[in-house]
Amino acid sequence: MKTINFYSTIIFTLVLNTLFAQGPVQKHGRLQVNGSHVTAENGDKISLAGPSLFWSNDEGDSADFYNKETIDFLSENWGIGIIRAAMGVKESWDGGRGYIESPAFQKAKIKKVIDAAIENNVYVIVDWHTHEAEIYTNEAVQFFSEIAEEYGDNDHIIYEIYNEPRAQSWDIIKNYAETVISAIREKDPDNLIIVGNREWSQQIEEAAAKPINDNNVAYTLHFYSGNHKQWLRDRAIRVMNSGIALFVTEWGSVNADGKGAVDVEETEKWLQFMKDNYISHVNWSLSDKNESASIINPGKGFEGLKNDELTQSGELIKKIIIDQKVTLSTNDFNLNNTPFKIHPNPTSDFVTIPQIFNKEQFVLADMNGKIIEQLIVKDNTIDLSKYPVGVYIVHMHKGDGNLSSELIIKN
Ligand code: MG
Repeated sequence: MKTINFYSTIIFTLVLNTLFAQGPVQKHGRLQVNGSHVTAENGDKISLAGPSLFWSNDEGDSADFYNKETIDFLSENWGIGIIRAAMGVKESWDGGRGYIESPAFQKAKIKKVIDAAIENNVYVIVDWHTHEAEIYTNEAVQFFSEIAEEYGDNDHIIYEIYNEPRAQSWDIIKNYAETVISAIREKDPDNLIIVGNREWSQQIEEAAAKPINDNNVAYTLHFYSGNHKQWLRDRAIRVMNSGIALFVTEWGSVNADGKGAVDVEETEKWLQFMKDNYISHVNWSLSDKNESASIINPGKGFEGLKNDELTQSGELIKKIIIDQKVTLSTNDFNLNNTPFKIHPNPTSDFVTIPQIFNKEQFVLADMNGKIIEQLIVKDNTIDLSKYPVGVYIVHMHKGDGNLSSELIIKN
């Protein structure tokens, strides 16, 4: 017994002295536009980093990454804050694989990514990936209504309803967006919606001049370091000063066509800019297609990701994402001053929670922040006997929306 307590103390001390990862959604809640920023639910300014998947209607390689294994791996090893599912709508080259001609096939692919993101507690952008969304307004309404109805209660979901218009006027884009947004809002009143703009989402000033009337809409800014320089950052500052919020749902370290050399210097300038201005960003793309924008070496598939067979851009993106990893320090846990105390701790089976209020819910999570399950409290007692030996986090969700957490050691 003494030995167990001795080791328990060491584990406890190690845990207290270590920063440990927890899912970003658990930390930040539902993303919310506040003035010129997309913030955490409580208004904290944040900048999330992650990769975008490649066109979902592409043949071959990209299809391999629309799966749970990829999202699990990136969450556990890179600490991604966000992932983007780029659902191809209809392209002349897609052989009928896009959503318009293969809706069930595409929806199943996207749902795999959404479900895996929720399980890993990371944000997921559901992207209507086309350059002519207004042609498919009815289909977009149907698709996003279904997604909103099924997932709208999850803080993880972000709707990106128009990836990159080409020459369409802002009036056409806005009209399309308002139709789709009103369909989403019937099912989901509050999650973040992102809208693209003319010239591959670089004409953000046109959106800023006539913004959409909704309290949680941000505007897409896309850049590729090889082509887009200080002039686009200046434009971004101007529109933020005018009061709209930006979200970089796609950026590349190379040229806008996905090819060319990695522009390290310009990429560093952009990253610093997004960090300074609390703009979240998603890199194009998590693919092993033979082009320099890809993260994984050509043809290497999921094994290539796992074995770190990365392109020059991939190495850079991995470092950026890991540097920006969302972690909770022990300070985030009110460890010394929790409004609830668990006894005994360490425990081998039952614990009691002396102070129970009204609407609290207790949830057990692992040390990566992954929710294991909701705990059943009976007579102020929780039975932990079925869980393996280890260190866990017990979260108490209070009726007022606040969260308190306590570490617990299971012997
Ligand atoms: Mg919602």
